[in-house]
Amino acid sequence: MAFLTRHGKERQVAPILAEAGLQVQVAEGFDTDLWGTFSGEVARPAGQRETALLKARKALELNPRADFGLGSEGAFNPHPASPFLYLNTEVLVLYSPAWPSAIVGRAFSSDVAFLREKTPYPDDVRHFAEKCGFPAYGVILKAESEGRLIKASKNAETLEILLRDWEKLRDDFQGCVIYAETDLRAHRNPARQRIIEQAARDLLRRYLNVCPSCGRQGFGPEENVPGLPCGLCGFPTRLAKATIWRCPHCAAENARPPEHGQSMADPAVCLMCNP
Ligand SMILES: [Zn+2]
Ligand SMILES: [Zn+2]
Repeated sequence: MAFLTRHGKERQVAPILAEAGLQVQVAEGFDTDLWGTFSGEVARPAGQRETALLKARKALELNPRADFGLGSEGAFNPHPASPFLYLNTEVLVLYSPAWPSAIVGRAFSSDVAFLREKTPYPDDVRHFAEKCGFPAYGVILKAESEGRLIKASKNAETLEILLRDWEKLRDDFQGCVIYAETDLRAHRNPARQRIIEQAARDLLRRYLNVCPSCGRQGFGPEENVPGLPCGLCGFPTRLAKATIWRCPHCAAENARPPEHGQSMADPAVCLMCNP
């Protein structure tokens, strides 16, 4: 399959898909940064899933001999349950011209170490780098004026280079606020790499599950049905009592035991036993 990625995501994805005999080849010849960057210079052309599908189709266009096209896209949004957390969503879209729809592997996590701070002095840059795990995690420096990004610097590999980049921004863009923030690009963000691996696992599982109705690959869990009974009083809880599996290509669906594997809920989550 042809994978359109610029930031080394094949390192996370290829070993997992190889378990099913799928060979991942990086598609060359197109700059995915034209379709959106995390540092904010370029906006995404469409939603996350649609953008990943665009990339998957493009990958196949660049490698017409491949049997599949693979595209990926990550997103970082404020967590719906907590304003202090970010939610990282990774999707991997597997496209085949032989299928009515693409297969989408997904993973979510709030284990996102995203930090952003003003850095008026060199010591601020040093402290920030230490706090965010540089150089394992990348640091992006941004010169901003009145909320507008003027210039970003993002490829420092050592503290020395990071400080030099910071000085250059300070001297070239006097009067701008200089921010440091965690690099969210996959090759500079180990936390994101782990979520991409989970999305690849999810995609692999869907690829290996054949729809009982149309016989195509991609059958997988789509929705939880709440109501797992409490282990003490039997009252329905908000935990899933079943998971609905669906086919992306046809209308087939069935209910399966919930992914958490429990048959009864802990009374601690029961509104009757523990209101
Ligand atoms: Zn089907
Ligand atoms: Zn109960």
